[in-house]
Amino acid sequence: MGNRVKAYKLFVCLIVFVVITFLWISDSLSGSTVKERIVVAPHPVLRQKAALIDRQDHEAIQLLIEMADYLDDSVRPIAGISLPQVAVSKRGFIVMIDEEAVIMINPQITKLGQDVPSLEGCLSLPGQYGYVNRNSSILVEYHDEDWEKQTLRLEQLYAFAVQHEHDHLDGILITDKMLADVPVSTRNSDIPLE
Ligand SMILES: [Zn+2]
Repeated sequence: MGNRVKAYKLFVCLIVFVVITFLWISDSLSGSTVKERIVVAPHPVLRQKAALIDRQDHEAIQLLIEMADYLDDSVRPIAGISLPQVAVSKRGFIVMIDEEAVIMINPQITKLGQDVPSLEGCLSLPGQYGYVNRNSSILVEYHDEDWEKQTLRLEQLYAFAVQHEHDHLDGILITDKMLADVPVSTRNSDIPLE
């Protein structure tokens, strides 16, 4: 009887060990390459004007898919990430919309609203947060990973995230446009965008 309990406990421990090892390995395989590639200021690639992505540029599109997986799997919520942030000066980024990583290639923004303050941070500026002005409502046109033409109208947080990532494509960082004073009226959830 005692031996049976012991064997059972050992079996449970073994299963737990296997599961933890599997999770650890799969975690370090997925996303680690993207995470390791993230560059921080003052890396020169963050200041370049990024080039348009060609339809045949499968390497860039594949990298965007990997970046989307990285954001999908991230425990810490990340609002978006752009190709220049992984040292590739091309016009593509990912933005989380309704908890889904949306790939936007060669995006073009039309501003429809008015400037409002947005509290933001950036993966390429660790520990730096501040308010910048963003348009409250935008139309963004882009190609998705299947090269389908897409159009989205976005408001507030999602609109801010697209404008933040789009700035990266033009070599602009939040530190370039941070407001000197913390605005009196700010958005409700003061969680900085990353
Ligand atoms: Zn950023």
